[in-house]
Amino acid sequence: RAKDQGRNTYRFFEAEMTARAMQRLHLETALRGALARNELELLYQPQFELKSGRIFGAEALLRWTHPELGKVSPADFIPIAEEIGLISEIGGWVLEQACLQLNAWERQGFSVKRMAVNVSVQQVERLDLVDEINAILQRTGVAPGRLELEVTESLLMRNVERVVANLNALRELGVTLAIDDFGSGFSSLGYLKRLPISRLKIDKTFIDGVTVDDNDDAIARAIIALGRALGLDVIAEGVETQAQADFLEHEGCHEVQGYLFGRPMPAHALRQLAANGR
Ligand code: C2E
Ligand code: MG
Ligand code: MG
Ligand code: MG
Repeated sequence: RAKDQGRNTYRFFEAEMTARAMQRLHLETALRGALARNELELLYQPQFELKSGRIFGAEALLRWTHPELGKVSPADFIPIAEEIGLISEIGGWVLEQACLQLNAWERQGFSVKRMAVNVSVQQVERLDLVDEINAILQRTGVAPGRLELEVTESLLMRNVERVVANLNALRELGVTLAIDDFGSGFSSLGYLKRLPISRLKIDKTFIDGVTVDDNDDAIARAIIALGRALGLDVIAEGVETQAQADFLEHEGCHEVQGYLFGRPMPAHALRQLAANGR
């Protein structure tokens, strides 16, 4: 009987694994067609300057709504897109859409200084990344200095020759570079002097603890001081409370992004927010 039970348990696991594999396969197949079926869209989260209380930038954040699966989180589908080699195609679309949106806002009399776009490792490793971005900037007429790419520490740690070459070429074009989720990777900081970085984005996990956990206070302060010492701008992500915003302002971090100031929202809503103030 014990043997039977063991076999049943095994069958159960097998069924469970098959179900999961099927679900994953389904997601993959659906994702492959998402662009063509117009299921992807960008939301924009405002970036605020505390001193002036003004929106100076926006971060483009990708959303996928599948007719049957509903909304799928980028945390779930971006890794899949990376694994199946789809992220460059999707990423190209994101870059172009984000630039087109800057123009659309401009036509509506609303000017956002800078648009931040997340890019994956695989995009930055591509031989033709710089040409592609250059072409998008030419087509849309967006000044390179208005585009900021957000990359993660893991990319910079690898010190791949082509990544370094691409980042330098982008810098030469005038495109700026921000390190997303800064402090969350276990990285050495050597890349900060080797690579053309403009901005550090303090990871949300530290901002969460600021004003309630002395360690997070200390880490946030250290990152702000590091930025100041190296001549880099520093922005905080995931700011949710006024106490966090007050702490950051007091410590000299004047750029903020987070639910306190605005969630990721459709383009028209961001324009309205800018017009009405928060
Ligand atoms: P990220 O670039 O670090 O973006 C910040 C995430 O935190 C976003 O989640 C945003 O909606 C969320 N967030 C912002 N403020 C707050 C806050 O105050 N509280 C809380 N709880 N969350 C906040 P989202 O939009 O789900 O995106 C998740 C991740 O997916 C992004 O992290 C980014 O790594 C990736 N991603 C999103 N769009 C793209 C894209 O177009 N290309 C690539 N390669 N990755 C993308
Ligand atoms: Mg980001
Ligand atoms: Mg981030
Ligand atoms: Mg993050």
